[in-house]
Amino acid sequence: MTKLKLVKERNGNYVLNGNKCKVCNIVFFPKKEVCISCFSSNNLEEFGLENIGILHTYTIVHRSFPQFNTPYTIGYVDLLNSGVRVFAPIKDSAPDSLNIGDEMKIIFETDEKGQVNYYFVRKVE
Ligand SMILES: [Zn+2]
Repeated sequence: MTKLKLVKERNGNYVLNGNKCKVCNIVFFPKKEVCISCFSSNNLEEFGLENIGILHTYTIVHRSFPQFNTPYTIGYVDLLNSGVRVFAPIKDSAPDSLNIGDEMKIIFETDEKGQVNYYFVRKVE
């Protein structure tokens, strides 16, 4: 079994690596190998998720494991055009002023090991 990649490149930019069942029209992230609705494995197609979404909920974490610097913010964002809800860190200079319903965008960052990670920021026009 191949390791599923959470991020892929599309037209020179990173996007979350989802897929979609051609029978049920359900979009999955992380990508599934079998549709959880119709159980077919040969009707799944590549699907590049939107990098923009709406903040569903969030929390500011003040106590955590020693390796994590607190406080930090995490939350769920509903991506546009897919119905996919993504859990990720939120990096915002003023997390106290975040509001459910805020428009968010995904930022991709490559770490020192070459691993591409992602987090959300508030989308500012
Ligand atoms: Zn299906």
